[in-house]
Amino acid sequence: MAGRLEDRVAVVTGGASGIGRATAIRFAEEGADLVVADLSAERGAETVAAVKALGRKAAFVRTDTSQNADCEALADAAAGTFGRIDVLVAAAGISHALYVSGAPTESVQGTRDAAMLINKPVEYWEKVLNVNLTGVMLTDRAIARKMIEGGKGGSIINIASGAAKIPIQGAADYCVSKAGVWMLTKVLALELAAHRIRVNAIGPGFIETPMTASMRSDEDRLRALIASTPIGRLGVPEDIANSALFLASDESSFYTGEILFPDGGLFTG
Ligand code: NAP
Repeated sequence: MAGRLEDRVAVVTGGASGIGRATAIRFAEEGADLVVADLSAERGAETVAAVKALGRKAAFVRTDTSQNADCEALADAAAGTFGRIDVLVAAAGISHALYVSGAPTESVQGTRDAAMLINKPVEYWEKVLNVNLTGVMLTDRAIARKMIEGGKGGSIINIASGAAKIPIQGAADYCVSKAGVWMLTKVLALELAAHRIRVNAIGPGFIETPMTASMRSDEDRLRALIASTPIGRLGVPEDIANSALFLASDESSFYTGEILFPDGGLFTG
């Protein structure tokens, strides 16, 4: 039986880790070829190897998504290697200015007071907005241009967050960047509809990836988080990969400008 993305070409940013990696692998299971984009060539190569082990083609392109030239080079490389781009998942992101995958969140951010907006250095705010919002915009438009040239439409999926609708103290930059991604998704959906390019977003709840490793290592916090999640567990990267698969496939052909919130009910209401 043909896969749900048989012979389509997908670009996944943040594809070297967490949600991006799980999405690349899930797409490959459904027949897609992959372009994996991220900062780390070493971890990107691990995702490429996992995709190839499923019998699909894959390439890594080192990309800093906050840099316009990198995003354009990524789009050129993907279209040049595979001849077209059908799907983009923009998953590259940071939880705060000093975030590096898996690094303890609080210890590098300083005290809770230091994270409050009135005390936060402007450079921290700018870093998060540059990566999480401007980076998604630069990636989306570079890939969209290739989709338009290809003339066959496409599906763009931006990874936002539950924090796009729920404010979190100490994370103003992150919340605002993700709310911006939500609105960016809606505007782009209108602008690209005539080219048969659908643009949707996903707003995950708390997912077991390096981004939440520090939070999960605190047993009391973990217990409280699970207790406040109606479904009774945190999400796993595959939960988000499956949402992305739906939005990438023809099953969602009447969806555009929409956001899905796979969050176990945490942010309901
Ligand atoms: P992750 O495991 O840390 O993956 C994020 C990836 O993005 C890392 O490989 C990271 O590289 C990369 N990255 C960071 N800045 C980049 C840049 N400028 N250019 C290219 N790549 C960059 O975290 P994740 O949980 O999978 O996060 C994926 C997305 O989901 C993010 O947008 C995040 O905000 C969103 N999200 C996550 C959760 C959650 O609970 N995990 C919840 C809601 C939303 P380095 O490690 O080398 O920095």
